[in-house]
Amino acid sequence: MLPKSLLGVLAGLLLVAPAFSQPSPEESLQRLKEGNKSYLNGIQRFPKIDPIRRLKTAVEGQRPIATVLGCSDARVPVEVAFDKAFGDLFIVRVAGNVCQMAELASVEYGVNYLKTPLVVVLGHTKCGAVHAAAQGTELSGSLPKLMAEIRPAIEATRRKHPELTGEALAEAAIDENVWKSIEDLLGGSEPIRKAVHEKRVLIVGGVRDIKTGKIIWLGEHPEQARLVAQ
Ligand SMILES: [Zn+2]
Repeated sequence: MLPKSLLGVLAGLLLVAPAFSQPSPEESLQRLKEGNKSYLNGIQRFPKIDPIRRLKTAVEGQRPIATVLGCSDARVPVEVAFDKAFGDLFIVRVAGNVCQMAELASVEYGVNYLKTPLVVVLGHTKCGAVHAAAQGTELSGSLPKLMAEIRPAIEATRRKHPELTGEALAEAAIDENVWKSIEDLLGGSEPIRKAVHEKRVLIVGGVRDIKTGKIIWLGEHPEQARLVAQ
């Protein structure tokens, strides 16, 4: 906890601090790519967790440069992966980075109200949710409903790669599961389709290798034009 006098000084500094400015979709993606490189090279400049940054975002509000839909997995901390700070990223985390109603609405909020120029759907290697769905693991409680959300990605992977089974099938389905969430985002949200069509927003997929920390960028959905036109 900072003394009140210091907080006063910091609040004063905010008056002379530069205002937030929103980057273009491409610039935003570049910043995340560079952030991941910084993380990999061990030269992190963020997270900027200093009191000035905290006060600035508290006073001026959040202006994140990207909305990220990622997995809840404890090995995929999103700000750390992208070397970003307070107020930089609007993050939705859910097991298996699926996109049901609450996630869809949250991403819509990021795009429509916070005006993030970029949406990243971020999967990761060794995703327990995808592996469980691929193996048909018997789960209790609400988890079978989550599995049902992921299963179409497993089936799509089986159709494309009938030779794959077990771990290999599950790992190949990680990409497909990212694509499915992007399909659900575009299929379920007219405002997001409009934003993509008008090039106000870029939607890309990514997969974090949990062993190396590297983000493997998948780019835009291969059938984006069709998905946006629906
Ligand atoms: Zn996961």
